[in-house]
Amino acid sequence: MDQADVLILGGGLVGSALAVALDAHGLTSIVVDIADPEVILAAGFDGRASAIASAPWRMLDAIGVIDRIRDRGCPIQGIRVSDGLEPGKLDFVPEAGEGALGHMFENRYLRGALHAAAHAAPHVDLRMKTRAVSVDRGPHGVVATLDSGAVVRASLLIAAEGRNSPTRDAAGLRVARWTYDHAAIVTSLHHEHSHENVAFEIFYPQGPFAILPLNDDAQGHRSAIVWSVRRNQADGMLKLSERGLLDEASKRMGGFLGELGPLGPRSSYPLGFHHAATITAERLALVGDAAHGIHPIAGQGVNVGFRDVATLVEVLVDGKRLGLDLGDAQLLARYERWRSLDTFMVAAATDGLTRLFGIPGRTANAVRRFGLSAVEKLPPLKQRFMAEARGESGDVPRLLQGLRV
Ligand SMILES: Cc1cc2nc3c(=O)[nH]c(=O)nc-3n(C[C@H](O)[C@H](O)[C@H](O)COP(=O)(O)OP(=O)(O)OC[C@H]3O[C@@H](n4cnc5c(N)ncnc54)[C@H](O)[C@@H]3O)c2cc1C
Repeated sequence: MDQADVLILGGGLVGSALAVALDAHGLTSIVVDIADPEVILAAGFDGRASAIASAPWRMLDAIGVIDRIRDRGCPIQGIRVSDGLEPGKLDFVPEAGEGALGHMFENRYLRGALHAAAHAAPHVDLRMKTRAVSVDRGPHGVVATLDSGAVVRASLLIAAEGRNSPTRDAAGLRVARWTYDHAAIVTSLHHEHSHENVAFEIFYPQGPFAILPLNDDAQGHRSAIVWSVRRNQADGMLKLSERGLLDEASKRMGGFLGELGPLGPRSSYPLGFHHAATITAERLALVGDAAHGIHPIAGQGVNVGFRDVATLVEVLVDGKRLGLDLGDAQLLARYERWRSLDTFMVAAATDGLTRLFGIPGRTANAVRRFGLSAVEKLPPLKQRFMAEARGESGDVPRLLQGLRV
């Protein structure tokens, strides 16, 4: 098939989810990705784990992805936010019957399930180890020449190439970006006591420390760690002995999970923020990190990308039913309007949070403690934060409600 409804450049977590979701609604896609599947699906490739909020989880369930990894997900039954190990914490716990706030998945399982689903989908043509050497967007459609020599055509081009998207840059879509003075050390560790399915966000002036629940394995209780450190300390942290790193982690965790160890493989990621001012152009839409990237403090990055997916699928499926060209400017304008406020709010909130908790000193500390206890005591505000964490705020696309469009 060298002709499809959409051409998706980038088959990462977001691009492959989009292809599978479109397939579930009978829309065809060609997905082109430069990566070698043997590399990106190997066990050691991506040591990260992602918190999939309940609304994107419902979407992945509705399109058949969760069935492939249901028992891999660790439900998050509560989120506890604290300013260092000071008293005055904020607990987010769902009401009885409301279900988990989200699920933790190791990225390798999520990536494997999305790729398997894309391979199995009859309307998805996944071309790995391939790149587009030229792409032409014009009034009558999109034509791309691939390095395999194939010429493919579609009504709409979707850039899902991650934070350095060349398609976004070539289209002249400008991006606001800044780097934080932080890098994230990412690993997993075993611990003596159960996490009881609670995710912990402990804020330090040096950067936030997140402990995210994973399912037990043969060696016992386990959590993923996202540990923000000053950028210039990251290399040193990676070189510390296992015992040295566990001791450092233990100081930040305050001992409530008991003895720590053994430790999983570690990696570090520089942290930054970027946000495209416009996410559409003629016959082009951006999704996922190609459009926006945030600090992983609130574990929202891939979730915001999945919200792009749910919105774009709804817009395109509605458009197809109305008999419109899928590259129609009105459809793209609807996608742009629907997404822009949500992505901006999430970006502003996570950036603000990172800065607020990064300010040293006693006064800032008192302000933060006041803020935490105020939210704790005001149920409506707390409910709003919970809805935000679940990915259920604003005008929610049908897929995020677990419904087909
Ligand atoms: C330390 C850390 C922890 C995180 N934790 C969380 C979390 O707990 N929860 C959460 O929701 N998010 C988290 N995130 C964010 C999350 O990982 C990203 O938002 C997510 O991976 C974005 O997916 P994507 O598919 O848009 O981009 P990517 O994952 O970057 O995928 C891009 C794809 O495009 C391909 N590609 C690139 N260039 C080209 C090209 N020219 N042509 C074709 N293909 C191309 C690549 O091979 C890749 O497959 C975290 C991020 C970091 C750094």
